[in-house]
Amino acid sequence: MANEVQQFDVVVIGGGPGGYAAALYAAAAGLSVALVERDKVGGTCLHRGCVPAKEFLETAHVRRTVEHAGEFGISTKGVAVDFSVSQNRKNEIVDKLFKGLSGLLKGRKVTVFSGTARLDADQTVTVLDGDDAGVVAKGKNVIVAAGSEPRTLPGFDVDGTIVVTSDEFLNLSALPATAAVIGGGAIGCEFASMLADMGTKVTVLEALPSILAGCDTEVASVVQRSFKKRGIDVRAGVTITGHSPKKGGTAIAIEGGEDVKVEMVVMSVGRRPRTEGLLGEGTGVEINERGFVVADSYQRTANPHVFAVGDVVANTPQLAHVGFAEAIVAIKTILGEPVVPVDYDRVPWAIYSNPEVAFCGLTEAGAKEKGYDVVVKKDPFGGNSRAQIIGDTDGVVKIIAEKRADGTAGQILGVHMAGPWVTEQLGAGYFAVNWEATAEEAAALIQPHPSLSETFGETLLALAGRGLHVA
Ligand code: FAD
Repeated sequence: MANEVQQFDVVVIGGGPGGYAAALYAAAAGLSVALVERDKVGGTCLHRGCVPAKEFLETAHVRRTVEHAGEFGISTKGVAVDFSVSQNRKNEIVDKLFKGLSGLLKGRKVTVFSGTARLDADQTVTVLDGDDAGVVAKGKNVIVAAGSEPRTLPGFDVDGTIVVTSDEFLNLSALPATAAVIGGGAIGCEFASMLADMGTKVTVLEALPSILAGCDTEVASVVQRSFKKRGIDVRAGVTITGHSPKKGGTAIAIEGGEDVKVEMVVMSVGRRPRTEGLLGEGTGVEINERGFVVADSYQRTANPHVFAVGDVVANTPQLAHVGFAEAIVAIKTILGEPVVPVDYDRVPWAIYSNPEVAFCGLTEAGAKEKGYDVVVKKDPFGGNSRAQIIGDTDGVVKIIAEKRADGTAGQILGVHMAGPWVTEQLGAGYFAVNWEATAEEAAALIQPHPSLSETFGETLLALAGRGLHVA
């Protein structure tokens, strides 16, 4: 006998940041919500992404701090690393957050079904396997938040020992002596930085002409210089033709160059959408040629009652907080409330490598490409008193503003930072860009002294025409 169809205002497929944010926000508005998750709520971000990666980067930070303790007159007897302790610590943090999230969903009366969901016609969602196999849930509206999974390169089969993706890498209990990170984007640079700080000899192989290709070039070169100083071998503009694994390692073949011999290859070449088998017949949802779901700026798919949020959406940044923002847009649209779509050109980006990178808005090159005449000011962290106190002075703040007819700086178009704790400092830059503040307006705000954020304030003063320390 067919299962009774359960009715909800909203059915969400996928319990990662996009899906759980949609479920929590809809439930907070009084809607009845079901969420189908085939693994664990929290998704990539909590179990295989943001949170585990940042825990390991923090372990690397602690190791650096201990290594430099002598500069503060604090003696330590060498540094011994037991990475399995960091791995356990990461698992405890993830578990605590997982329990917290599960409790939150329960508290908001979200019905969580366990299993793989398929969306069929008329917003009907069937649970195909798992504990709730056979459940059929129909939503007045459905949110697709199936997320993404790591890609690899042809010929690089993931075996979890020699070739790993972020999924396996974040579960290692010991780190290799040598590693090649393939792909010098945000995730690749975080992994390379962490490995190098933990004592692994790292080579970064990037097909594009430079690492961190989406960042402002000056900010990317701060990271490149720091990587070089720390012995990370960055090879950009290379073509990888294959590899020859043998016991204990592999040799990566580079077109026109020598093989790179390493114990482990960490693939960081992007993520593909998890849409295989997701849609049944007659859903009306459009999938593009790369498998991503096509949605409009209100997150609506080609079916007006099916929305998509998070990594699964075509042509949008794959960031957890973008998924949160899209979820709010989708639910407000369902509620018929006024809503401002996500402005993808102005979302905050944070990369937790050493040094950190954070930015929002247009790069200098991007602004010029869009036809803007620009005024640009920069201030390095070297002169910042707090940076000297904490012993971390590599970095720069760079702000790009539109040039007015009289040559002065007008609206702030982009804020780009590399250096100590910039991921925690970007907030003010984010407000400046998104509130379309002018250089004078933002420069009028006072930064506490001594603080790292004074470098941002100082750059703004210079942009507004007269700096205290920067010309
Ligand atoms: P996901 O998190 O992938 O969640 C999708 C969920 O849907 C999964 O739990 C999956 O099991 C479930 N699912 C899929 N298909 C079905 C189905 N048919 N039925 C039922 N359930 C299904 N972003 C940041 O903003 N900051 C960072 O610092 C950051 N660091 C990262 C580091 C790494 C190493 C990685 C890999 C990613 C990082 N990201 C970061 C990206 C971030 O993790 C993703 O953008 C985010 O997780 C996407 O959320 P999502 O909800 O769209 O998808």
